[in-house]
Amino acid sequence: MAQKRDYYEVLGVDKNASAEDLKKAYRKLAMKYHPDRNPNDKEAEEKFKEAAEAYSVLSDPDKKARYDQFGHAGVEGQGGFGGGQGMSMDDIFSQFGSIFGDFFGGGGGFGGFSGFGGGRPQRRVMKGTNLRIKLQLTLEEIDKGVEKKIKVNKYVACKSCGGSGAKNNSFETCQHCHGTGVVTEVRRTILGQMQTQSVCPKCGGEGRTIKDKCPDCHGDGIVKTEEVITIKIPAGVSDGMQLSMSGKGNAAPRGGVAGDLIVQIDEAPHELFERQEQNLYYNAFVTFADAAMGASLEIPTLNGKVKVKLEQGTPSGKVLRLKGKGLPVLQGYGRGDMMVCVNVWVPKSLTKEEKVLLEQLNKSPNFQPNPTKQERGFFDRMKDLFN
Ligand SMILES: [Zn+2]
Ligand SMILES: [Zn+2]
Repeated sequence: MAQKRDYYEVLGVDKNASAEDLKKAYRKLAMKYHPDRNPNDKEAEEKFKEAAEAYSVLSDPDKKARYDQFGHAGVEGQGGFGGGQGMSMDDIFSQFGSIFGDFFGGGGGFGGFSGFGGGRPQRRVMKGTNLRIKLQLTLEEIDKGVEKKIKVNKYVACKSCGGSGAKNNSFETCQHCHGTGVVTEVRRTILGQMQTQSVCPKCGGEGRTIKDKCPDCHGDGIVKTEEVITIKIPAGVSDGMQLSMSGKGNAAPRGGVAGDLIVQIDEAPHELFERQEQNLYYNAFVTFADAAMGASLEIPTLNGKVKVKLEQGTPSGKVLRLKGKGLPVLQGYGRGDMMVCVNVWVPKSLTKEEKVLLEQLNKSPNFQPNPTKQERGFFDRMKDLFN
């Protein structure tokens, strides 16, 4: 690789040049070595690139500071142009296109200058629009993953014309570009004549236009219809998540690329469980007697009931963790847990007999509240709840 010239030297300015001076100097060089004014001139192209590289560094206060301190080593491989490879023509026009644009009185409407250097202008490829749907799923469906068939109203390629938009394939050569798909414009500027090439606005670069429009799609090549789409939902998705199915959206006019189908997950509320990420929460209600003496509880999960041992003397509010009884991790391993909150059920009304029995128990020493320090600490957790 040849030794790089000093960037200030390339632009012909001194170190104290203002941003405006740098821009002026660069614009002058860019015009002089512009590929359209120097067709097939390798040396001009190199100079054009060299100037762009120098300007890309010196016009950026950050890079300029590094360059001033460390020279080329300070800005090498710092993005923009990897490791002294120089900038490609595309980079230059995408970064500095506006500089040429305002010089020539605005190149808008012609798709900028993207046609320079990189060959002919690219024909426009039509893309179909994306189709969005909401899909409601139950926790049971989310737990196992599910395949859903849904009816959607979408654009598909017109069968009558095969998506071309032309009746009986009746095309004719585009009159505007004479079939080349490209229009060349010669403009007079203060620097002389400049040629610009752009995609033909009449035919979009196709080089041909429709003679007789297909009556079924009015020349668009697409028609709206109802279609049943099968959607596979992986296990473990969550509310609001968007799954994108490439190419399943609306077809594009005249044989372009179809858009995407975007499926937004809407999780239906569950009768028993609440979800937090991959964990499920469940409120279990037990009698005072079971909580006091211990019992075997039946707890529902998304995959049937499981038996859980309730220890003797379990206080109300205790949370039992059932490992692996939550939801699966999306595209991963393992499952979340189920948190079972034990609630001691207090009767809302009592018979005379029940009252008598309870009054007896109520005098018994074991029934007098005697919380441990740890149990009193629950108060702090309560304060957290209300903060
Ligand atoms: Zn048609
Ligand atoms: Zn044309």
